[in-house]
Amino acid sequence: MIGIIFGPPGSGKGTQAARLEQEMHLKHLSTGDILRAEVAAGTPLGKRVQRIMAAGDLVPDELIVDIVRLRLPEAEQGAGVLLDGFPRTDAQGRALDAMLAGEGHSIDFVLALVVPEEVLVERILHRAAVEGRADDTRQAIAERMHEYHKLTEAVLGHYRKQGVAIHLIDGVGTPDRVFERIRTALSGISSGYGQKGE
Ligand code: AMP
Repeated sequence: MIGIIFGPPGSGKGTQAARLEQEMHLKHLSTGDILRAEVAAGTPLGKRVQRIMAAGDLVPDELIVDIVRLRLPEAEQGAGVLLDGFPRTDAQGRALDAMLAGEGHSIDFVLALVVPEEVLVERILHRAAVEGRADDTRQAIAERMHEYHKLTEAVLGHYRKQGVAIHLIDGVGTPDRVFERIRTALSGISSGYGQKGE
């Protein structure tokens, strides 16, 4: 099973993805987390993307596609994969389709967290204060939201056209309530998953 979780900055996407990993045993593959780890470790890739990320811009498609291409096969060994933060552009979507088609796989579901913009800004500024994230300045937030709306929603359209189930999830409320909505949305396709170790 391969799913994608979408959500604007501050929508609680990382928290919900971690819950999905824990409860449905989907391997969480977050391109943002991978890139942040590269930056923190000071690798050549990290040095290359550091400034781009701090400005809230998108990292070039070919770098991101290479990252996913390297990690997807291993992630697919388990019960399933949850892609987080990828694909973000049409080119990434097409590259992913080609990767999956080569293995006879396709996307099973798309989750999109929906949260009003004023709630998002409040959450992000709070997180910036707590975690000291370099990319959570007001200007960078505005840039990331702009990128999200411009590019990510086009990717949603890409999957809608392919007939992939797209679940719009109300992301307002406690993490538990939001997760319940996700669980309900996926109940039809999750049978047979999440049984491992139970
Ligand atoms: P995220 O944690 O998903 O919001 O990602 C943090 C930052 O990493 C983004 O603002 C981009 O600079 C970069 N990034 C993560 N995923 C991608 C992607 N699929 N395409 C381009 N840039 C990305």
